[in-house]
Amino acid sequence: MASPLLAETQSIVKQFEFTDDDVNKSVREFLRQMDEGLEKDGTSLSQIPTYVTGVPTGKEKGLYMAVDLGGTNFRVCSVKLNGDTTFNITSDKVAVPKELMVAKKAEDLFAFLAQQIKKFLEKHHGDHFEAHIRRRMTVSSPDGYKDEHVFRMGFTFSFPVQQVGINKGTLIRWTKGFDIPDAVGKDVCALLQTEIDKLHLPVKVAALVNDTVGTLMAHSYSSPGSQGSILGAIFGTGTNGAYLEKLSNLKKPLVGEYDTSTGDMVINTEWGSFDNQLNVLPNTPWDAALDKETPNPGFQMYEKRVSGMFLGELLRLVINDLMKKPDVSLFRDENSSTNDRRSTTDIAETSGIWKAWGVDTSILSHAAGDHTPKLSVLRETLQETLQISAPAFEDAQAFKAIAEAIGRRAARLAAVAIGAVVLKSGRLADPERADDTVNVGVDGSLVENYPYFEDMIYEALRAIEGIGEEGAKRIRIGLAQDGSGVGAALIALVAAGAE
Ligand code: ADP
Repeated sequence: MASPLLAETQSIVKQFEFTDDDVNKSVREFLRQMDEGLEKDGTSLSQIPTYVTGVPTGKEKGLYMAVDLGGTNFRVCSVKLNGDTTFNITSDKVAVPKELMVAKKAEDLFAFLAQQIKKFLEKHHGDHFEAHIRRRMTVSSPDGYKDEHVFRMGFTFSFPVQQVGINKGTLIRWTKGFDIPDAVGKDVCALLQTEIDKLHLPVKVAALVNDTVGTLMAHSYSSPGSQGSILGAIFGTGTNGAYLEKLSNLKKPLVGEYDTSTGDMVINTEWGSFDNQLNVLPNTPWDAALDKETPNPGFQMYEKRVSGMFLGELLRLVINDLMKKPDVSLFRDENSSTNDRRSTTDIAETSGIWKAWGVDTSILSHAAGDHTPKLSVLRETLQETLQISAPAFEDAQAFKAIAEAIGRRAARLAAVAIGAVVLKSGRLADPERADDTVNVGVDGSLVENYPYFEDMIYEALRAIEGIGEEGAKRIRIGLAQDGSGVGAALIALVAAGAE
């Protein structure tokens, strides 16, 4: 006879199953929502045009700069592209002072950023910098620099912007603790360029960069074979993807100017909001409960089932439910005189298990990665990170099974997005490219650290109609790192080429 705990665990695991049929139905819906987003605004998949009209082949050469204003830090780097898929990167990072995050004038923050660029140039490119200062005195171009000596720079700005050109975008609103109302509605590239010019630096803000687009570019440059990558995807705190689309498929009007010669444009899908309507996404009671806890219920519904920010909480909600069941003995102190979990001595009052968002997604990786016969690694992790004292083997087994069910569903959902983009590219069906590899770049802690995440993606890809065993063999998923460094530098290069 199965124990009540085992029976309940099996029932929960079943609810997280995402079958091959589910995968296929979701791929069809993903493709439909992709097309809808290319036609009009205000749809589930935003399908934002990036004005980046090509991906690198690995042969690109030159010295470019990249800066990244993410949240707490400002990163400045220079990237030397060697033209053989390799690069050398030099970078410095500085914390953004709290007072500047809420400065009165936009100028205060952007002047600070320009100062950091100046310091970086003096420290790492002193010769170049000095030479230009001298040249500036002798040459009479607008700011005294010869154009070919000006560093092109990619600016990764991870806040909501309305992009209207490759190096033009207005700030919609601040997030992550920044609040400088003066900057809202202004072009962030122009704000930075103005401050750079005040310091007479030989730097041009050539491109405004989205980190997902950077991932695509970085991977495209470094993947061997020079066929370029078709997709850059992030599975980290959140999830998003950027892919190469034919311009002719982009039906909604584009406001800015761009280079039409390649016939392509990189599209930022913003796929975290795929299927907010829940036409095809699974919706267990715990998914629904999690959604209610978030500040944006009903939005980012795909992301809430796939990414690092949410999976730990999903697991916590399931485990809490299970612990509340009177006939199921999970993490229970059998000697306790009460059934109230909070009054037992098994789990500390301060444990993250009791608090919304108290369980980090990394514990799913620990659970999935523990193959010891008695799950001793996971049991130790439960004790250390969640202060569950001496958990029983059966308890750890249940925890592991549920964590794996959530992780597996996330990977299969990730395959939906990847598979849909691969099918949309038409690469697998193109007779002229029958032997080509289809490169996909991925980044993010989940895909990097969750054991077998990639294997589970492949398993689902093989089940997709139009991909199958043969197609899946041609898809090469590879880690793309440093999208905001080398990726941003590459976008600056592409942008400079189109100037
Ligand atoms: P970001 O997406 O913000 O650039 P990361 O790619 O590092 O950053 O992702 C951070 C997210 O990944 C967090 O939500 C964190 O909970 C989760 N995470 C961190 N370590 C692991 C791990 N070992 N396994 C699974 N998820 C992890």
